[in-house]
Amino acid sequence: MTAPRAPRAPRVGFVSLGCPKALVDSERILTGLRAEGYDIAPTYRDADVVVVNTCGFIDAAIDESLDAIGEALAENGRVIVTGCLGARPERILERHPQVLKITGPHAYEDVMGAVHEYLPPRHDPFLDLVPPQGIRLTPRHYAYLKISEGCNNRCSFCIIPSLRGRLASRPIDEVLREAERLVAAGVKELLVISQDTSAYGTDVRYASAAWRGQTYAARFIDLARGLGSLGVWVRLHYVYPYPHVDEVIELMAEHRVLPYLDIPFQHGSPSVLKRMRRPAHAENTLARIRAWRAQCPELTIRSTFIVGFPGETEAEFAELLAWLDDAELDRVGCFKYSPVDGAKANALADPVAPEVQEERYERFMERARAISAKRLAARVGKTIEVLVDKIDGDSAVARSWADAPEIDGVVRIRNGSGLQPGDLAQVRVTGASEYDLQARLTARRARAAPSV
Ligand code: SF4
Repeated sequence: MTAPRAPRAPRVGFVSLGCPKALVDSERILTGLRAEGYDIAPTYRDADVVVVNTCGFIDAAIDESLDAIGEALAENGRVIVTGCLGARPERILERHPQVLKITGPHAYEDVMGAVHEYLPPRHDPFLDLVPPQGIRLTPRHYAYLKISEGCNNRCSFCIIPSLRGRLASRPIDEVLREAERLVAAGVKELLVISQDTSAYGTDVRYASAAWRGQTYAARFIDLARGLGSLGVWVRLHYVYPYPHVDEVIELMAEHRVLPYLDIPFQHGSPSVLKRMRRPAHAENTLARIRAWRAQCPELTIRSTFIVGFPGETEAEFAELLAWLDDAELDRVGCFKYSPVDGAKANALADPVAPEVQEERYERFMERARAISAKRLAARVGKTIEVLVDKIDGDSAVARSWADAPEIDGVVRIRNGSGLQPGDLAQVRVTGASEYDLQARLTARRARAAPSV
């Protein structure tokens, strides 16, 4: 069935679920739609068709995606599904056979083709409403920068490689030009994302390209150098502790990129890491962390962990706690292992009982909270630079170099009502809780090179 052509601009509703990588996919699709003259509808009722970008990482995310599709069908009725869950159409059709079309992850052309099929674009040569930096779903002052798709690792608990395919790095000049456009549009913080940021360029043999008159290789370190020359905050996510990551610590010590590393360690016991088939599991990560902190004392390390992985013994869990005590990570998230359809780990022996998982989760988080509180208490009395996210009454809610948006803590500025979202400011830290800091404004800075 094809919809009749609307006299006004055709309107697409958009629901974006999942991780920052899916968010970047959504931004690219929205940019494409806007470039073709589609309007983006704010409500289901205003939309001629609704696109739902789904997540299929764990069972809870699959349920959320299926519910979102159900809601869009109930409220609008004309729904196109894309994203990670789209790689498993049978799961969607089983519950929602009436969806118009299903496409998989990063299938931009397919999504556009589906929209064209059910809602043809209106040709208008005067319609060119897309800003050069594209359409973004994040606040104006920060943006995610996706440097690659897919992953060559084969972690036993994860099905992302089968959903998103093998590593496909974007050309270095394309990434740097996109970053440049974002900065020109007012972005003050670039968040580099991928499935495995430290593996950037390995699939394209580190192909070189020119940018601003210099040659850059598609390498982690060149990428960090290039982004670090733009004069904004640069935050690196999803990095694995390979030896070549050491090179970027120097740039952090020089404040050219933020001294912040998001490394999903997932466990501290070598035998569990081996069963998880984690990349770099044989590296001596504690020694590496010590060396990094010696070189760059402000370095903040964020990580995520899985407790109750199949076969995890009490001794292995104790190893994880001891590892965490030694590593003193600043920001820590934790998940209780849950099987994902199609993951190799499902076949491992000795699943851990839910009540044991729960108990280990509590013990782990208690330890992580104590470490976080101790490390934040050490910042009281210091003057730091923050980026303001929002104003909340008389206070401003901001973040320091140590806080990624949505996942880490915040800095509450008591006398910050005169600030604006996107302002950089100097504050003096007056107090600390388990995850957040309190501070007083000492100086406003309209724009600055990154400093901590
Ligand atoms: S690194 Fe491991 S967990 Fe991350 S996407 Fe690749 S396979 Fe999955």
